[in-house]
Amino acid sequence: MSNKILNTYAAYAFDDLIRKQSSSGAIFSLIAEKILSLSGIVYGVTMTDDCKGAEFVRVDNIEQLHLLRGSKYIQAKVGQAYKSVKNDLNSGRIVLFSGTGCQNNGLKKYLGKDYENLYCIDMVCHGVPSPKLWRHYLEHIETINNAKIIGVNFRCKDQGWKNFGMEEIQHDKKKVYIPSSQDSFMRMFLRNYCLRPSCYECEAKLVRCADLTLADFWGINFVAPEMNDNKGVSLVIIRSQRGQSLFDTIQEKLCYKKVDYNAAIKYNPSEITSAPRPKERNKFFSDLEKKEFIKMEKKYAADAKIPLKQKVKNILRNALLRKNNGGGGTVM
Ligand SMILES: Cc1cc2nc3c(=O)[nH]c(=O)nc-3n(C[C@H](O)[C@H](O)[C@H](O)COP(=O)(O)OP(=O)(O)OC[C@H]3O[C@@H](n4cnc5c(N)ncnc54)[C@H](O)[C@@H]3O)c2cc1C
Ligand code: SF4
Repeated sequence: MSNKILNTYAAYAFDDLIRKQSSSGAIFSLIAEKILSLSGIVYGVTMTDDCKGAEFVRVDNIEQLHLLRGSKYIQAKVGQAYKSVKNDLNSGRIVLFSGTGCQNNGLKKYLGKDYENLYCIDMVCHGVPSPKLWRHYLEHIETINNAKIIGVNFRCKDQGWKNFGMEEIQHDKKKVYIPSSQDSFMRMFLRNYCLRPSCYECEAKLVRCADLTLADFWGINFVAPEMNDNKGVSLVIIRSQRGQSLFDTIQEKLCYKKVDYNAAIKYNPSEITSAPRPKERNKFFSDLEKKEFIKMEKKYAADAKIPLKQKVKNILRNALLRKNNGGGGTVM
């Protein structure tokens, strides 16, 4: 195992509908479709039926693939997935496993040997929030709206890829949209209070075993601006010959461009750096045990207090970015 890089691409699917439902450029879906067309099996993460958690599921047909589309910003339960992957591999099925770097490393450890019929995808990973925080958040949302939530899209692109928001679908089908910069759960996530302890010292960034790594190409305007239509561009890092062969088979369904790795990851710090552990993290979790969510929001998700000097700097920097980019964005 090593962190060898064969090639790096900017890429997105020509299919606008699948791209809209995906977090970045829908590369995961195209690869998964390819695997299913070969009678293979895809393992990935979906929300549980009550939307209170996320878990791995086995998908063997294209009708169910939508379950896996899109990032769910919660630690997913692995459950029986590793065991089921092993059974499928041993019975000769082609398998695609898609999860975080640490989940991929866990799978490889569990399998104990290399399988030629296994393809692995991981992602540039900021970290995963605590499922407990998510449950508290969702129950709070259900209480204030007096409505059960039956669907969640953490990466709704209705206002564009870079200005993504949280979309919550109520039992009466009413949709609630909250810009990610204003959503309290996303604020706690992006302020790093609620990540799993291992995410602050992520070993999966040092030793990667996936064939391909996917990410949002946040620096697209500096590397291939002609590809940015604000519908989502993926950063694709090829780490093995197997990953390259898989990527080659989907190229006819893609707009893509080979790019320089170092230039590409400049705006994706999570490719190589773990999130810093806030000094308030322990207090955050002890408060979560005792405090109502509304109090957590007040304490940990309030508008950031920005000193005047920094405010001026930000205004100047954003003006410069807008001039260079034709639009700003959220950099995770
Ligand atoms: C927790 C998390 C943190 C991320 N952090 C960053 C980041 O800091 N910077 C960055 O550029 N990109 C990050 N990404 C990756 C990015 O959000 C997209 O997943 C990636 O660009 C692939 O997009 P896509 O359009 O090809 O496919 P999508 O359809 O958006 O990807 C879906 C795939 O993601 C997997 N997935 C979804 N939720 C989870 C989960 N909770 N745990 C494990 N796997 C999951 C599914 O199994 C599926 O295979 C993160 C993703 C997740 C899930
Ligand atoms: S940051 Fe590292 S440890 Fe945390 S979920 Fe991602 S890959 Fe796993």
